[in-house]
Amino acid sequence: MSTLNGIRSHDFDRYLEPVHGADAQALLDLQRAAFLKEARPDHDQRKARLALLRAAVLAYRSEVEEAISADFGHRSRHETGIMELVGVIQAIDYLTRNLRRFMRRERRHVGFIYRSGRAYVEYQPKGVVGVMAPWNYPFSLTFIPLATALAAGNRVMLKPSELTPRTSDLIRRMLADSFPPEEVAVVIGGPDVGAAFSALAFDHLFFTGSTQVGRKVMKAASENLVPVTLELGGKSPVVVARGHVDDRTMSSIVFGKLANAGQMCVAPDYALIHEHDREEFVTQYKATVARFYPDGPASEDYTSIVSDRHYDRLTLLVEDARHKGANVIAAGLKPERATGKPRTFPPTLIVGARDDMMVMREEIFGPILPVRTYRTMDEAIDYVNRRPRPLALYYFGARDAECEGLLERTTSGNVGINNTIMHVAQDDLPFGGVGSSGMGAYHGLEGFRAMSHAKGVFIQGRWSFARLLHAPFGRLANLALSATLGKAHARATDYSSKASL
Ligand code: NAD
Repeated sequence: MSTLNGIRSHDFDRYLEPVHGADAQALLDLQRAAFLKEARPDHDQRKARLALLRAAVLAYRSEVEEAISADFGHRSRHETGIMELVGVIQAIDYLTRNLRRFMRRERRHVGFIYRSGRAYVEYQPKGVVGVMAPWNYPFSLTFIPLATALAAGNRVMLKPSELTPRTSDLIRRMLADSFPPEEVAVVIGGPDVGAAFSALAFDHLFFTGSTQVGRKVMKAASENLVPVTLELGGKSPVVVARGHVDDRTMSSIVFGKLANAGQMCVAPDYALIHEHDREEFVTQYKATVARFYPDGPASEDYTSIVSDRHYDRLTLLVEDARHKGANVIAAGLKPERATGKPRTFPPTLIVGARDDMMVMREEIFGPILPVRTYRTMDEAIDYVNRRPRPLALYYFGARDAECEGLLERTTSGNVGINNTIMHVAQDDLPFGGVGSSGMGAYHGLEGFRAMSHAKGVFIQGRWSFARLLHAPFGRLANLALSATLGKAHARATDYSSKASL
C-alpha cells in the first residue's frame, strides 16, 4: 500500500467528509508529498483536469444556482448563470485554449561573451496553492482561481466562505467527486479556520476578500514567506463627463450597481457627476431602475442581501447620511413589496454625499449610490487621487483629452470606458487591484504566471568567451573588459603587469 508522508491511500476516504481547520495541515502535507513524488503534470494532464472541472460545473449547474439562492435568501438563476457560471466556463475554455502557449519555454537573450550558451525561462508549477474565497460570488471566485492554479500544474486547497454554507458544502462535494484530495481539497470554516489556513506554508496563497482581512492574511503568510495574490475591495468611482448622462450611460451604471444588489467588488461605489448634470442624473437613474426592476425590490431578478448583519450595516450607512444632511432617494418602484423576499434592500441614491458620511468612508457593497458633483475634470481627478487606489475606475464620455487626462493621472486596478464591470469578463486582461485594492492579478497570462515559478535556466555552450575570464587574468581579460566597459576604463586601469596569455 502506498504512503504519502505517512498518510496511507485508503485514509483518503476520510477527506470525503468536511475538513476543518485542524486537518488542513495534514491535507497540505498530503498534497505536497504527492506533488514532490509525481512528475509535473504535462499539457495533456492539465487539460484533462480542466475538462473534469468543466464537466463538474455543467453537471452541478442547477444545484449551484439553488445553493447560492438559498444562501443569499434570493438570487435569480439568470444572475447566477450570467455572473458566475458563464465566467467560470469561459475562464476554463480560455485556459484550455491557451495552455500550450502559456506552458512554452521562453527563449531569452544571451550576452555576447556567454555565447554559444542558451537561456530560457521555464514556467514551473509552484506546488500547493491555497485559495481563500469570499461569499459574494462564492462559486466563480473559488473556481476561476482553482482553474488557473490547475492550468499552471499545481495542487489546490480551497477555503470558501462560511457565509454561504450551502454553496461551500456543494463545492466540497463536487470537487470530492471529481478530484482525489491530493489534487484538490476543500477546507470548511469561518474566520478561525481562515486564520489557520492563511498560516499554512503553501507555495502560493491566493486570497479574495476585504482589505482588512487581506492585511491579516498577508501578515500570516509572511511568517512562512509565502507569496500572495490579494484580490481586495475598496471604493470604485464612476466619473461621468459633462453632457454624457444618457441612456447608455445610465443602463450601464444601473446594471453595474444593482447586479447582485451591489454586493460586488467592482460595482461602481460612488458617482462623480458634473454639477450641471446632477438633476438629469437623478431623474434618469430612477427611470432606469424602474425599467430594470418593474416589480421593484420584489422583482425576481433583484438579489437579497446575504445576512442580517450586512443588511443592518447598509441601513446604518443610509441613516448616517440622512442624519448628516444628505438627500436620500428611493430609486425603485413599489418599495413596499420588498417584504415578500428576505433582506431586500431597495436601490437608494444619496445626493449630496459628503466625506464625513460613512457612505463615503467605507466600501458600500450594496445597492446604495452616493452622488457627488464636480466642476472641472481636474477636480474629479484630484478627488479620486486623494483616496486609496481603487480596484476599478469607470468613465463615461468621449475619448478626448479629458478622458486621457483621467486615465493618465489616476491609478486603479482596471478601467472601464463607457461600461461598468465588463473588464472582468475579458479573459485575456489581467484582473486585480493596486495598493489597498490588491496586489498581483489573475485572468489572462498574468494569472497563469502568478501561479507558476518563472525559473531562469542557462545552458553553457561547448565554447564560451566567459571561460577566458578565469584567473590568471591576462590580455584576453583586458580585451573583454575594454570591450564591455570601454577604452577609457582600460586606459585608466593598469593591467600591464599581467603576463600575456
Ligand atoms: P472577508 O475578507 O471577510 O472574507 C474572505 C475570506 O477570508 C473568507 O473565506 C473568510 O472566512 C476569511 N476570513 C475572515 N476573517 C479572517 C481572518 N481573520 N483571517 C483569515 N481569514 C479570514 O471578505 P467577504 O466579506 O467574504 O467579501 C467581501 C469583500 O471581498 C469586499 O471587500 C469585496 O470588495 C472583496 N472582494 C474582492 C474581489 C476581487 O476580486 N478583488 C472579489 C469579491 C470580493
